[in-house]
Amino acid sequence: MNFFSNLLDETHLALRENCARFAQKEIAPHAFEWEEAGIFPQELYTKAAQAGVLGVGFPEAVGGVGGGPLHAIMSIEGGMRGGSTGVSIGLGSLAIALPPLVHSKNTDLIERFVRPTLEGKKIAALAVTEPGAGSDVAGIRTRAERHGDHYKVNGSKLFITSGTRADFLTTLVRTSDDPHAGLSFLMIEKNMPGVAVSRSLKKTGWWASDTAELSFNNVQVPIQNLVGKEGTGFQTVMLNFQMERLALAAYGCATAQIALEESERYARERKAFGKPLSGFQVTRHKLAEMGTRVLAATTLTYQVAARMEQKENVMKEVAMAKNFAAETAISVTHDAVQIFGGMGYMRETLVERLSRDARILSIGGGTHEIMNEIIGKCME
Ligand SMILES: Cc1cc2nc3c(=O)[nH]c(=O)nc-3n(C[C@H](O)[C@H](O)[C@H](O)COP(=O)(O)OP(=O)(O)OC[C@H]3O[C@@H](n4cnc5c(N)ncnc54)[C@H](O)[C@@H]3O)c2cc1C
Repeated sequence: MNFFSNLLDETHLALRENCARFAQKEIAPHAFEWEEAGIFPQELYTKAAQAGVLGVGFPEAVGGVGGGPLHAIMSIEGGMRGGSTGVSIGLGSLAIALPPLVHSKNTDLIERFVRPTLEGKKIAALAVTEPGAGSDVAGIRTRAERHGDHYKVNGSKLFITSGTRADFLTTLVRTSDDPHAGLSFLMIEKNMPGVAVSRSLKKTGWWASDTAELSFNNVQVPIQNLVGKEGTGFQTVMLNFQMERLALAAYGCATAQIALEESERYARERKAFGKPLSGFQVTRHKLAEMGTRVLAATTLTYQVAARMEQKENVMKEVAMAKNFAAETAISVTHDAVQIFGGMGYMRETLVERLSRDARILSIGGGTHEIMNEIIGKCME
């Protein structure tokens, strides 16, 4: 039964199936090895593009495969069937790096950056966070000074997904002192002199996704690489956050759903005291509560996506969905590890990996506390 038949049509279901098929064939057989190595092969980008799973949510006019927020969620759910959130996140860094370019409608930037990325030929990253500014975006200090036909950029960025491998960075820079109106987006190319990867960071989860600290030392960036108008960076990043937070809610739901399915399977197969774990009421009740939380989080996330598709203002509800889905992923994966017992603590089990991967969901893209600030302000 399609419980969400009021929201998901044939196009959604077919897309999810296509993405799952790709993930099961191209990612699942290597997921453990790539997670342990902390990387996945670059050719996966081209394979994903060829399979039509890379450009979901991007208009065909810029090289995407079309679709709205619910389609984007389907591609996340399908992709997660590869068993590595790290790979999904690595492939997906373009989903946060490219929208500012698409919204700018700048055909030169679209041809140079968006199209080749959606063809799987270039890797994109979004560089907003800095060592001294994460939640407080207006505290960004990376400076871009205008000198004739170029900007001179100095500063650093932290925790940048795909940062070590990216060919270019959609970078939030300070073009004047005004906390909000002084921010702009600049396209910084990795091969520009003065751009360096200071560190490749080791993380709790998302191992196959690379995360970097970057530095800019007198980098000369042509003014053609400005995205939109000078001073529109803060607005753009806030707009970008909406889809990023919805996507993170979707990762939370998918993480919890897979952990639930794994737990159900294990509870049927594993025997203790002469009967399967599912024969104990305590296990059945745990599974019942996990299933309820997964359905509630998924329902909220889909509903918010459907409203977003109608172009409604869902700033409060996106923040609610992100918090609720992240907490669901954290609690359900915790329970899943418990059901697996000692095996749940072993690297070879999927629930162990999912439990580590879930933790970031209440931090990245805006923390739990910042989401509550947004919700609280919208309720005033
Ligand atoms: C694996 C990973 C991948 C990431 N990928 C990217 C990326 O690709 N690009 C990018 O730009 N960034 C990325 N980030 C950065 C991420 O978005 C930030 O870590 C996040 O926004 C939080 O910022 P912070 O780490 O500086 O924490 P801080 O802002 O220093 O917050 C620390 C704590 O203080 C709390 N806090 C802060 N302000 C308030 C307040 N006003 N009220 C109440 N509590 C508050 C926070 O909730 C948190 O608990 C990534 C981070 C990680 C860990």
